[in-house]
Amino acid sequence: MILFTDLYLETMWQAFLLYSFKYPLAFIEHMFYNLYMDAIDTLKMLSSQMELEHAEESRGEPAKPACFTPKEQRAAFVHPAQLPNGKQIHLLKTLLSSACERDCFYCPFRAGRDFRRATFRPQEFAELFMKLHQSRAAEGIFLSSGIAAGGANTQNKILDTAEILRKKFGFRGYMHLKIMPGAEKGQVERAMQLADRVSINLEAPNTERLAKLAPHKTFIEELFRPLKWVEEIRQSQPSYKGWNGRWPSTVTQFVAGGADESDLELLTTTDWLMKNVRLKRAYFSAFHPIHDTPMENKAAVDPMREHRLYQASFLLRDYGFDLEDMPFTQNGNLPLPTDPKLAWAQMNLSEKPVEINRAEKRDLLRIPGVGLKGADAILLARRNGKLRDLAALRKLGIVVARAAPFLLMDGRRPVSQLTLF
Ligand code: SF4
Repeated sequence: MILFTDLYLETMWQAFLLYSFKYPLAFIEHMFYNLYMDAIDTLKMLSSQMELEHAEESRGEPAKPACFTPKEQRAAFVHPAQLPNGKQIHLLKTLLSSACERDCFYCPFRAGRDFRRATFRPQEFAELFMKLHQSRAAEGIFLSSGIAAGGANTQNKILDTAEILRKKFGFRGYMHLKIMPGAEKGQVERAMQLADRVSINLEAPNTERLAKLAPHKTFIEELFRPLKWVEEIRQSQPSYKGWNGRWPSTVTQFVAGGADESDLELLTTTDWLMKNVRLKRAYFSAFHPIHDTPMENKAAVDPMREHRLYQASFLLRDYGFDLEDMPFTQNGNLPLPTDPKLAWAQMNLSEKPVEINRAEKRDLLRIPGVGLKGADAILLARRNGKLRDLAALRKLGIVVARAAPFLLMDGRRPVSQLTLF
């Protein structure tokens, strides 16, 4: 006997709203498909496109832990991920629903695209996740969703799921919640009380560029303003001790190259957000075309561009670089063949190398091959005497082949020692 559950009725209604007129066959298929899929298959379907979301460095192959049942092994939707504190976990990245009423040009879930969709109810999803969590198949969760009946309504579904996990099932693990376009300020605050991280994807760096990717989203009202709310909420309650003793971090994501924007535009917005609303991290997802979308014939963007954008954003965030330091070409893009720190050093340090035994930390951080830990290690080692050769630097974790052309050791260029390495 077929049981018409709330989930089934809700999914059927969403499917009817979304494409019953345009794709009658797809509607019928959708209507009956959810009935016969079991929960794991539904989860697999909802997670299948989530590699487009670059969260928590979860970009490796999906994990297949030994503790997975054979069915869960087949599903393979849990990704190895690195948390902000460096800890490695298995992270379930998924949607609550792949039904979406918006029509963003680049997105596989856009309304009217003909594919099988699925939806979980909050209680049903929370029970499934806890089963995976208790079998140690998934230690943390990143939960997003397509939008149905408005962003605020969809945000409520995400919040309901998070509440059930935290309050009813006592889940204490890592939780990353997506803030939907159209969410209200009170919902943003509730998400912040439940999550370790919240994200609001800007997708493009400004209003003009967003119009090329997602013409029915409003950059300021739906995306930019919620990012500012997060910081306003933090500042209005500085002593708040959230579920784990602190407010969650905030991240965003851009579709790099999707709107023909320049790296300068992307990094200008990223830099502003890092300085003004404490954005922890910007993720850059190099555009690649999805079949049966309005952008299916647009050329894919070189993944190296994504890599260079990450390098530049880390220089802005952690290394004291300014936008003016970035080696932008005339069209406002970073050169692809050379990393931005090396390009800056070639222009600025080749004739004025840094004296490793006297330089301040901010100058040490400008040397290619010297990272945050390396700069601290140099400062510590200098307390015990001068650093006289590359071997000593190498022991401190410095990449000497990159650093040597741009430094002095006690007044001498160590480049001639490079052959030893
Ligand atoms: S709102 Fe999100 S899920 Fe829906 S089409 Fe746009 S990007 Fe895709």
